[in-house]
Amino acid sequence: MDEFKLLIDLHKGANRQGPGGDAETEKAINVAGIDRDAPLKIADIGCGTGASTLTLARSLNAKITAVDFLQDFIDVLTERAQDEGVADKIVPLCTSMEKLPFEKEAFDIIWSEGAIYNIGFKKGVADWKHYLKPGGLLIASEITWLTNSRPLELQDHWNNEYSEIDTASVKIKVLEECGYTPIGYFVLPEYCWLDNYYEPMRRSFDAFLNRNGNSEEARAIVEAERHEIELYEKYKAYFSYGVYIAKNI
Ligand code: SAM
Repeated sequence: MDEFKLLIDLHKGANRQGPGGDAETEKAINVAGIDRDAPLKIADIGCGTGASTLTLARSLNAKITAVDFLQDFIDVLTERAQDEGVADKIVPLCTSMEKLPFEKEAFDIIWSEGAIYNIGFKKGVADWKHYLKPGGLLIASEITWLTNSRPLELQDHWNNEYSEIDTASVKIKVLEECGYTPIGYFVLPEYCWLDNYYEPMRRSFDAFLNRNGNSEEARAIVEAERHEIELYEKYKAYFSYGVYIAKNI
């Protein structure tokens, strides 16, 4: 099996595919001052198996277009939405975030948790602005340095993974330069990484290796994930996800 299929196999059984939390999605709704009764059109971009999509569907009077380029993840999301009785609020859409088929100014809110890095924060906030109504909101979480400097081992690892990783002040400046008014920022707490994301993943390693015949490729994936977890545990004071809330002007 190729690496991509193995990664899907490792992640598709999980509640979420990156750090985050239902309470933090709710917190972003509150910080943004979103009216829970207003009929809203939302796009949740890079939705994975739907952790944030389902929270939004439960909490808001919204129609949510849930976008991911992996049909496997969209299928899980659709099933979860049906189980929770919120399927009528969700339009699943399997497509790339780079080629979104949306009309100009189609949405009140663009939501994206742990996914904008796939096209880069700058490109994402600039491109997706076109799909937001004037006064619409962009809410995106993005890996962020929490301090002005950091140990070289950590810096090298993440620069290699994602060259746009930076401090919140730089991200907020990008938002301003792209024509948004930043209205809120908060940092995801440790349990969003450990309890909500890394621990469930760690518990799934044995079954994943068994399903995949303990192949060299599967073991390499587990090793890479373990390394990322170790780096988080060692250096969590220096980085997290920031949640950025900005208004389109
Ligand atoms: N938002 C989800 C969550 O917090 O659980 C998923 C976060 S996961 C780190 C990133 C997601 O982006 C994955 O579901 C992946 O399939 C999706 N993705 C990556 N590149 C993409 C692209 N070019 N277009 C659409 N989705 C993409």
